[in-house]
Amino acid sequence: MFGDADGAGVWSRCLDAAIDAFNSGSLGIAAAVVDREGRIVSLGRNRMDEVPGDPLAIGGSSVSHAETNAIHGLGRRSLTDYELTLYTTVEPCPMCIGAIGMSRIRRVVVASRDPHAGSLDLLGTSAYLRSKGIAAEEPGGAIERVFFGIHYLSIRRLPHIAPSHRVFAAFRTRYGGLMDEIDERLGNEPLPELRLDHETIARLFVR
Ligand SMILES: [Zn+2]
Repeated sequence: MFGDADGAGVWSRCLDAAIDAFNSGSLGIAAAVVDREGRIVSLGRNRMDEVPGDPLAIGGSSVSHAETNAIHGLGRRSLTDYELTLYTTVEPCPMCIGAIGMSRIRRVVVASRDPHAGSLDLLGTSAYLRSKGIAAEEPGGAIERVFFGIHYLSIRRLPHIAPSHRVFAAFRTRYGGLMDEIDERLGNEPLPELRLDHETIARLFVR
């Protein structure tokens, strides 16, 4: 799906976890923590709309985000290892940027922006977070399109979010063209019944 892009293997694992989250009724967002050798040491996904099951996962509440799950999965290592990188499919919210700052992770790679809740700017505007010296990178390209697409449809299918909700106006500031393209490809397909797999993702999101 991501060819020979930097971190393609990590993004592939994130893609499968985001698909799993979407198909489980949560937001299709995933995060992976990678060690200095590039090995995935923890993988988390959004679990907001699920009942807690896995005792090692944070599920069924407002804090059940992909990044909090990935960091929680590190256990003690989150407090000791300064050479970890967190990959996330969607720009972290204020809570998750805070959780990254409270861990020893010092590099984040963000697949797609979230112009509504995304808070990467806090790395520069919060004096505390700025003191941590956390580097942020964005690969863009196909990685950005696919993971924004999954996030967008996750929000669009939420029954309590109307099309007039401000989240969509915020998304449009960066992704208007892509949203129109996805809407057109989706056509009249009923969103509540949509199940994602690699084929559907290629059809809906890949240029
Ligand atoms: Zn978050």
